[in-house]
Amino acid sequence: MKDLLGREVKDLSNELWWGVPRSQIEWYPTVDYSKCVGCGICFITCAGKKVFDWDVEKNRPVVARPYNCMVGCTTCATLCPVGAISFPSKDFIKKLVKENKLIQKAKEIIEEAVKKQKEGE
Ligand code: SF4
Ligand code: SF4
Repeated sequence: MKDLLGREVKDLSNELWWGVPRSQIEWYPTVDYSKCVGCGICFITCAGKKVFDWDVEKNRPVVARPYNCMVGCTTCATLCPVGAISFPSKDFIKKLVKENKLIQKAKEIIEEAVKKQKEGE
């Protein structure tokens, strides 16, 4: 499947995020159409994940694949010139990090990689 710009689109909702099914994490953009001016920056810039499709009739983005969104990413909201895109709060992310023990998991991954690197020296 390809989008309006001919870019390959994949459904990433079955992937895992730190061992958690991505479809169980409610992190994705919401577009306020009363503010959106249809510039297309969000649609074009989300090139890696392809969260958005483009509604050619209404000339505006559609959050077509919400669970493709990278957890914690807010790039499209940052770039939107009129502040039409919103995400859950930072507390939502903090809670996810805590509940899923990301600090411990990250530490273990790094320690293991460093160990392997040293063993290979
Ligand atoms: S970047 Fe903002 S204004 Fe532009 S299309 Fe996306 S939501 Fe609309
Ligand atoms: S936050 Fe990042 S990954 Fe998610 S829709 Fe926006 S640009 Fe795409």
